[in-house]
Amino acid sequence: MATKAEQIAQLNKELEQDVAYLPLVQSAQDIVPGEGNPEAEIMFIGEAAGRNEAIQRRPFVGVAGQLLDKTLAENGFQRKDVYISNVVKTRPPENRDPLQEEIEAFRPYLDKEIEIIDPTLIITLGRFSMGKFIPGARISHIHGRLHKVKFIGKYRYILPFYHPAAALRQQVVLDQFQKDFTKIKKILEYISKKKEETTFLENIEETLLS
Ligand code: URA
Repeated sequence: MATKAEQIAQLNKELEQDVAYLPLVQSAQDIVPGEGNPEAEIMFIGEAAGRNEAIQRRPFVGVAGQLLDKTLAENGFQRKDVYISNVVKTRPPENRDPLQEEIEAFRPYLDKEIEIIDPTLIITLGRFSMGKFIPGARISHIHGRLHKVKFIGKYRYILPFYHPAAALRQQVVLDQFQKDFTKIKKILEYISKKKEETTFLENIEETLLS
């Protein structure tokens, strides 16, 4: 069985080989793959690459990325411990919002990435990644609240956050963004407790059935 790192490397290879079928990309050099610890508990999903991301071919390395890194550090996490990806793995012109057809074209690669990383917690950054799991929701209503969503064959925990770029534009959003980050540790503890309970119940069921 290939490791998660090997599976991610293979996925990225396929993504680069498929550029002829993808919108917005002229060559493999235009692809901005996800990055981070393939064994991460937390996977962040943003919107699409910006200028700096397209140049460096790395997600969240511009000013929004700096805010993400800083807020992670303030809450006891390091960027190298988490996994970071985007709904659209390239840069839309003039950083415009991604179109539905662009999101759809990159969807199979992101879905596969989620399946491989299989994180304990998915944190969506902004409304496009939130909409992938919780369609029709308003970010102002549901940010910072944990959701359990059936996605690719299993229930997954989704925690929607504002996008760091939005936090940089408005102080009230920044306040919420920072506050939501402080909830992550407690939420991870809650999920781990829930998992223990489920395992305990499964064990009891097995004992009863055997
Ligand atoms: N904004 C995003 O949504 N993703 C990035 O990678 C950078 C900025």
